[in-house]
Amino acid sequence: MAGILDGKGIAAKIKEELKEEIQQWKDRGIQPCLAVILAGEDPASVYYAKAKQKVCESLGMTYRFINLPGDVGEEDILGKINELNGDKTVHGIMVELPLPKHIDTKKVTAAILPEKDVDGVHPMNRGAIMSGDEGLFPATPQSCIELLLRSGVEIEGKHVVIVGRGETVGKPLVFMILKHHATVSICHSRTRDLSSFTRQGDIVIAAVGKPKLIKADMVKPGAVVVDAGINETNEGMCGDVDYEGVKEIAGLISPVPGGVGSLTTTLLLKNVLKGLAIQLKK
Ligand code: NAP
Repeated sequence: MAGILDGKGIAAKIKEELKEEIQQWKDRGIQPCLAVILAGEDPASVYYAKAKQKVCESLGMTYRFINLPGDVGEEDILGKINELNGDKTVHGIMVELPLPKHIDTKKVTAAILPEKDVDGVHPMNRGAIMSGDEGLFPATPQSCIELLLRSGVEIEGKHVVIVGRGETVGKPLVFMILKHHATVSICHSRTRDLSSFTRQGDIVIAAVGKPKLIKADMVKPGAVVVDAGINETNEGMCGDVDYEGVKEIAGLISPVPGGVGSLTTTLLLKNVLKGLAIQLKK
């Protein structure tokens, strides 16, 4: 029976560290602040925006919520971002995605100052992931890595098999985990014989969006399995890994909920403080 990669416990520990760091900034006369822009009333986005507010408040970080109407013009969103870019009391800016269809998402995300881009979506930050330069990196792939490192899993020299090459998780994770000196294989929907790859993984990371895709017979005995998937099904929320089956084979496994997803908001707020430090250096 596999041990658990305890996202909730690790998130609690990181929150304590952040609380202390936020207090240190306050002692220097700086009140860290995250601004979140939401266009429209998409229920999932409203939920995530509220979740961020709750964590911000519990840590002593200021949260500024800008809810624009769903029919807002692109120029108005860009104008708001421009205003927040120039506001020295705002240290992180995040735009809840997806944006309404009439808005060009790439244009909007590229308008955020790279050092305030806490979601790690600006092209400069994307490039920094590959070049190894200082930058702000997306929270979900960071969560996968923190989950491993803070559970004492060594990444260096391991064969990490990532399933999924999406822009949010899989693709940035390839370069982020390479920095930890893993040997990386990346699989996707056109991969032939997926299980022949996953069975080679010392560490398997699933970021697909297909409920319970990774079954017990696709995993090497003792492997570490990280599940970044979030799927809403008729039976409730589940990951991309068949948890009940795989936990009998794996050495360590992350549950859904309670694994990767438990860390993402916390790491997003950690990015606010990282960005703040970069802003002060400029
Ligand atoms: P995405 O952009 O839709 O990418 C999905 C990837 O999975 C694609 O690369 C796709 O291949 C691949 N794929 C689809 N079916 C496959 C199959 N049968 N076998 C192998 N690969 C397959 O998704 P994403 O935004 O990266 O998100 C991935 C998952 O992470 C989702 O469940 C999402 O809900 C979750 N997520 C979690 C968090 C969190 O906080 N925990 C945050 C963001 C996302 P192709 O490239 O060939 O199409």
